Amino acid sequence: SHRKYVAAGCPIFAEGDPPTEAFLIESGQVEISTVQHGEPQVLGQLGPGELLGEMAVLDSSRRSSSARALTDCVLLPIDRDQFSERLQAADPVVRALLMSQLARYRSALATLTRGASPASEAAAGTDMDSGLDKIRLEGDLRMALDRGDLDVRLQPLRDMADGSTAGYESLIRWRHPVRGEVSPAEFIRVAEETSLILPVGDYVLDRVCAMLAELRNRQRRPLPFIALNVSARQIEDTGLVSRWLARLEQYGLPPDRLRIEITESLMFDTQRIVQLLEECHRAGMRVALDDFGTGYANLGVLADLRFDVIKLDRSLVRRLSSPRGLALVRAVVGLAHSLQCDVVAEGVETETQYTLLRELGCRYAQGWLVGHPLPLEDVIAS
Ligand code: C2E
Ligand code: CA
Ligand code: CA
Ligand code: CA
Repeated sequence: SHRKYVAAGCPIFAEGDPPTEAFLIESGQVEISTVQHGEPQVLGQLGPGELLGEMAVLDSSRRSSSARALTDCVLLPIDRDQFSERLQAADPVVRALLMSQLARYRSALATLTRGASPASEAAAGTDMDSGLDKIRLEGDLRMALDRGDLDVRLQPLRDMADGSTAGYESLIRWRHPVRGEVSPAEFIRVAEETSLILPVGDYVLDRVCAMLAELRNRQRRPLPFIALNVSARQIEDTGLVSRWLARLEQYGLPPDRLRIEITESLMFDTQRIVQLLEECHRAGMRVALDDFGTGYANLGVLADLRFDVIKLDRSLVRRLSSPRGLALVRAVVGLAHSLQCDVVAEGVETETQYTLLRELGCRYAQGWLVGHPLPLEDVIAS
């Protein structure tokens, strides 16, 4: 597993070692010590929930103390990247404050007297707690990725013109052994904070290609498209589209069966999105603007960005029950159509919403009324 087990009495790291990783102590007690004037001096003890060896990792200096297990310990190793990437992304002022605290700590350590306790340095504020929780989640996610514990489901999009299934959206699922089903809304955000989103994205793409290939081989009807959700970090990668194309080719799939969904909240890097749209269009892939109406997009970007599809966020669909909400949705559908975009309504849960949307000229519906996200086998059986 990803955990490291250290038996009582064994060393974890020694003073002077280069820093390769830090640890979150899951269970057991660790003793920190240093050598002063040739004499070993115990600095303190760390226990469950505390970070160990993070300082050397943060400022890339050699270990300034040694650590050994007092009792049998279970440690969660934390990659240098998990810190350094976040640190790079942090506000420079925060970074500076942290570094100055580190320097101060180190000079205190150098002039240390017996009894000083580095344990008190492992701040237990709520910020730190939620930070650690993220690190735990991320460690578990890395493991889930290695073990293939992530699942991809398909949710149908219905063409309201004839009731047929136009295609599917791929949605990731993670069954966590302890936490149960973790919402992608939660873990995708954590994965996006580091480069972990990149292997997650590759994983989903690979599963989607495999599913398209299965559908092609096992169904008579024309191959539906599958939409792929793409996040901000992935978009920064300029080789993204060519890697998608290479993967599709490996499976012998036509690129136009892959649809891309980009969330409205990413629209700040307009130039990159323009480029991505061009690349996708050249390859024959359609691109949807996801979560439209959640409030991030400057309407003006719609003029510059040639999306093929606009997905109405379910918060808009929910507003259909009020006259003003209805007027708003009607206007948005009109706007989308005048930009030559198809419209997909998300989160359609009731017949009333479905009927209203169709009357408003919205062509595609997605939501529990139409179908829940399903494993591929259920899609094939349906
Ligand atoms: P999204 O792209 O807006 O996906 C639609 C979400 O609405 C999904 O939540 C879906 O299960 C849920 N949904 C569908 N129909 C209904 C309905 O009728 N009512 C309600 N209340 N909800 C409905 P899910 O699967 O929890 O995903 C949440 C978000 O996580 C997604 O929002 C997407 O932003 C992200 N996500 C999911 N899979 C992936 C992925 O493979 N890659 C990336 N980058 N993001 C993903
Ligand atoms: Ca989506
Ligand atoms: Ca959406
Ligand atoms: Ca969403």
